[in-house]
Formats: sequence, C-alpha cells, structure tokens
Amino acid sequence: MKYRIGNGLDAHRFTEGRPLILGGIKIAFPKGLAGHSDADVLTHAIIDALLGAAALDDIGTHFPDDDPQYRNINSILLLRQVLEMLTQRGFKIGNLDTVIVAQEPKLQPQIPAIRQNLAREMNLPLTDISIKAKTTEGMGFTGRGEGILSMATVLLYLP
Ligand code: MG
Repeated sequence: MKYRIGNGLDAHRFTEGRPLILGGIKIAFPKGLAGHSDADVLTHAIIDALLGAAALDDIGTHFPDDDPQYRNINSILLLRQVLEMLTQRGFKIGNLDTVIVAQEPKLQPQIPAIRQNLAREMNLPLTDISIKAKTTEGMGFTGRGEGILSMATVLLYLP
C-alpha cells in the first residue's frame, strides 16, 4: 500500500451581500466571503489538500479564477471533479482533518451539518472526517474579523 499526504490552505475576505458557505453548507451570518466562486474557503482548502496529495497542481490551475464558467460556482461541484480525478488514478481517501479559523461566527453548532455533508460528498464515514473551528483570540486578520482561513490535511492511499 502506498500512502500520500496532502495539505491545503485558503483564506477569503468577508463581504456584504453574499451567503457564507462552508463545506457546502449555508451558515446564517450577516456577511459572506468574497471570491470568484462561492468562496467556500473550507472546500477550497480540502480541494488543495486532495490535489496536493496526488501532486496534481492546485485549485487555481484546474479552475482559474478568471474563467467565467467558475463564476459563483458551487465549490462542491469542483470538489466532485477533483474526487473524480483521484478515482481515475486509483486513489482512495484515508481520512480528512480540517481547521476553520474565524473569530465569528461561532461555528460549533454548524460543524455536524458540515461534517455530514462532506462525508456524503466524499463517500466517507463520519469517523474519517474531522472539522475543527478555532479563533485566533482577536489576533491577525481572522481575529479582526476581516475574513476566514481554512486548512486541510488529507491522507490518500493506493490500495
Ligand atoms: Mg479560495
């Protein structure tokens, strides 16, 4: 069995007038995130971790942010495309671990729904998916409430 680890990181700035979407789940909050796509910062970090583990470049290479076909796109659709690329190469996912860094909103109540959605999309049991929400105790851009940062680590294997 061959194992491959990947990590992904993403950050998006808060903006008015857009929904806040994390892991494909709409979060009730007065602000959303700015971006060419739906700006799902968690899903973007997961996509980069998956691509990184397979050494298949990064999200911006596959889905350029100046390409009109990805404007406002649901990032879960991009995740599905990446999962298909991995399946074609014979990769299976071992587990996924993630961190969402946000001063607000408080994400603890939303984590079960996000986890369930990602488990379904990635065809994994809940026990293979971890989502952790952190603040930075008021420090830095996340602490000042300017945006949200996400990190993801994934283990792929070739059976
Ligand atoms: Mg992004």
